[in-house]
Amino acid sequence: MASELSFIMIKPDGVQRGLVGEIIVRFEKKGFKLKALKLVQVERSFAEKHYEDLSSKPFFAGLVEYIVSGPVVAMVWEGKGVVLTGRKIIGATKPAEANPGTIRGDYAIDVGRNVIHGSDSVESAHKEIALWFPDGVVEWHSSLHPWINE
Ligand code: UDP
Ligand code: MG
Repeated sequence: MASELSFIMIKPDGVQRGLVGEIIVRFEKKGFKLKALKLVQVERSFAEKHYEDLSSKPFFAGLVEYIVSGPVVAMVWEGKGVVLTGRKIIGATKPAEANPGTIRGDYAIDVGRNVIHGSDSVESAHKEIALWFPDGVVEWHSSLHPWINE
């Protein structure tokens, strides 16, 4: 019964390229439950905080530049195994290594324009959700729940 949450963000290239609907439909049709969603353009300091674990990487400055370059769609999805399954739906970090059928495999070419972010663990999901949705998520009953979960 204990449900897992993941933080999923459509990056500025995904928004600009009109991929918001295509991406949401994959999580929705899988059976995951939407718990929060907003379109927002973040400040540099906020992007740096989100990616603070990568601050020593050579690509960090470019990554922050990319994330602040336009609005992003921030979401929280819920469901059994949503963190790991969400990463599978998204595909490998480098689009060239992402399988066809995954979001990055289908829609991206460069690692620095890889369309989408997904939490890499339950622990980072909690951290990211607290950062992006400090007022919490929406608790609601989905009538589909018993048709998706045994
Ligand atoms: N990134 C990059 N160059 C690299 C590795 C990563 O520009 O060599 C960017 C890319 O947008 C990636 C993000 O930094 O999605 C975060 O990197 P991470 O290793 O956490 O990959 P992810 O969890 O997004 O698959
Ligand atoms: Mg990551």
